[in-house]
Amino acid sequence: MTQSKSRKAVVGVFAHPDDESFGPSGTIAKFAKTHDVYILCATKGEEGMGPKSNLGKIRAQELQNSARILGVKAVYFLGFLDGTLSNNLYHKLASKIEKKLKMLKPEIIITTEPNGVSGHIDHITVSMVTTFVFRKLPFAKTLMYYCIDERSAAKMKNYFIYFPPGYKRTQVDKIINTEKYWHLKKQAMMAHKSQVEDAKRVLARMENLPKEEYFSIKKK
Ligand SMILES: [Zn+2]
Repeated sequence: MTQSKSRKAVVGVFAHPDDESFGPSGTIAKFAKTHDVYILCATKGEEGMGPKSNLGKIRAQELQNSARILGVKAVYFLGFLDGTLSNNLYHKLASKIEKKLKMLKPEIIITTEPNGVSGHIDHITVSMVTTFVFRKLPFAKTLMYYCIDERSAAKMKNYFIYFPPGYKRTQVDKIINTEKYWHLKKQAMMAHKSQVEDAKRVLARMENLPKEEYFSIKKK
């Protein structure tokens, strides 16, 4: 990964380590061929473990490993705690995202669609706040909301308490063929070793679906 001043930047903004790989990792790997790609991650995914647990440290390292596989140049953690994102942190989160984006100056920003794909409140908060920041920054021209289609969402029904319905084809603005990057997506998902059971289960569900990723696009 050599530094190239002529390459434009793409930044993915996510709530947890693994949102990038379980999410738009094929697209991230594809962009990494032509752009400098960076990831901002709001939390270290430490939820559910006691204060002495080092799960956050483990998961942060797993994200670094996944990012390396995908060709991402750098990962920045924003220092929030898993499961705590909400309106109360709106401006704190916005200012941290804004600061990093001003430094990286991406033309394209990727985040999860407004329902957070899986309905996770952390995802919804990150999506909302990223949209707010996107509107403020003149250099950011395109916001890509990662979404899944109805077929994929139907396969996830029992995954969470509530899993929002997927996007209809008419709601999808861009389909990116990620077949060439499927092996990297799998490797990146499996790099999250602490989540390996989830990775295996999700990969089994995805195996027979088209190797493509879906986006709803906002432009300025
Ligand atoms: Zn997540």
